[in-house]
Amino acid sequence: MTDWTEGAAWVGGEIVPLVDAKIHVTDWGLTRSDITYDVAPVREGGFFRLDDYLDRFEASMAALRLDPGVTRAEMKSALHAIVARSGLRESYVSMTCARGRPLVAGSRDPRDCANHFYAWAVPFIHVVKPEVIARGARLWVAKNVRRIPEDSVNPRAKNYHWGDFTAGIFEANDAGYDNVVLLDHAGNVTEGPGFNVFAVKNGRVITSDHGVLHGITRRTVLEMCAEVGLNVETRPLPVDELLEADEVFLSSTGGGVMPVVEVAGRIFGNGAHGPEASRLAALYREWIRRPEWREEVAYAA
Ligand code: PLP
Repeated sequence: MTDWTEGAAWVGGEIVPLVDAKIHVTDWGLTRSDITYDVAPVREGGFFRLDDYLDRFEASMAALRLDPGVTRAEMKSALHAIVARSGLRESYVSMTCARGRPLVAGSRDPRDCANHFYAWAVPFIHVVKPEVIARGARLWVAKNVRRIPEDSVNPRAKNYHWGDFTAGIFEANDAGYDNVVLLDHAGNVTEGPGFNVFAVKNGRVITSDHGVLHGITRRTVLEMCAEVGLNVETRPLPVDELLEADEVFLSSTGGGVMPVVEVAGRIFGNGAHGPEASRLAALYREWIRRPEWREEVAYAA
């Protein structure tokens, strides 16, 4: 019997179980991280803000001069089809465009490569586990690695250049922390592996405006702040300001709004979730149900 328990993938126009989804060992997506991707959430059986994720994915492909020869409508229908096939009502749905392999043997010219699209849907992935958030997530500020400069790798084109994040995760684990945030070379807060970072000070919400992916959840946070009348500042966020904040929280497709209780030894609100982070986390759970943002998946009966 076919095993769909790990999820479903779309590769080369076919829907296959995740375990059978493969790419070639010489694909430049693998050998050069010459690839872009995006991840949209399926919550309670429907996509949330799928068009916004597709807009960002298309912008990332354009920035990297990738063209998989698949229309947006075809990509969207592939995403719906793999989620329906997987049966997952809570899913992490990844769409990818890789440079591919050169059609001319031995070529080192990216124009010779056959770019290709593939996608997969797996059970929902939390960037910070809910039980960690419940007991109080502790964030480390990496000392031995900085975020790759934005004029070297454009963080707004979502990418697999995760060497800095992976080093940071090891450093955080060694220091006994749950996760990590990286600074830029000027000492400003950038982002973490899979999330944007926010500070709340005197009722103002501050998040970096540069050196970061413009997260769709970050955008939702900014829109929710406007709805509830919280002032927002998108600007460089020096690490000292993060450590002096009243509250800190993270945002990600993989979990929504996630309060943090400690950053590198500085404990906020006596270790309890902050009031604004809690309010925004609850509002996010409400927003993902709003019909205007949703596309329901047509699962087999
Ligand atoms: N920053 C990085 C590096 C990410 O990989 C992600 C998401 O995976 C985010 C931020 C958060 O973006 P989004 O809210 O679109 O998930």
